[in-house]
Amino acid sequence: MSTNRNINALQLPGFGPEVTDTVKLSQPFEVQSFEVEVLRSKRRKSTVGAQLIGGVLHITVPSWMSRAEEAEWVEKMSASFRRQLSTDRIDLRARALALSRRHDLPRPREIRWDDAMKALWATCTLDTGAIRISTRLAAFPNWVIDYVIVHELCHMEVAGHGPDFWQLVNRYPRAERAVGYLIAKSGERDGDEFADADFNAC
Ligand SMILES: [Zn+2]
Repeated sequence: MSTNRNINALQLPGFGPEVTDTVKLSQPFEVQSFEVEVLRSKRRKSTVGAQLIGGVLHITVPSWMSRAEEAEWVEKMSASFRRQLSTDRIDLRARALALSRRHDLPRPREIRWDDAMKALWATCTLDTGAIRISTRLAAFPNWVIDYVIVHELCHMEVAGHGPDFWQLVNRYPRAERAVGYLIAKSGERDGDEFADADFNAC
């Protein structure tokens, strides 16, 4: 008999709970911190640009800008991206309650972020009705986070991933797109090893 109580874990495609070495996977996804690189551009006339690529925030400022102004902008842009990547902007409980109302799904007893969750996107413990969402998801679009919440809410009614389960999940209109998004994210920066992830493995 399995002793794993989180039987309804939303796994990364291609990853089962039997995978114990998750260090390789967890490293590239540290979204809470990033390095900053500033580029002074002659082509840029009046606006400041910022783009986060692979853990580096590239900030482009017009070349006429003073160092003091540049420092101000770097601080402003960094703060904005930190906010965007943090869990603060998302009220999980409010979202879960709204989703359960909208799609007529069970309400969670408890839902919170989990920093330690690296090989899973989320879990639902049926005994306690508690849902845990990996903080990695905070950097993803809201509609993807909502899908993950819906996925776990559905497990409170249907265990496992049979047709009944997916029928329930599909009340959320963007479910299929979100699954595709998560598959793409789990393969990112990890090479081709996980690129052919099984659609149903999540
Ligand atoms: Zn699941």
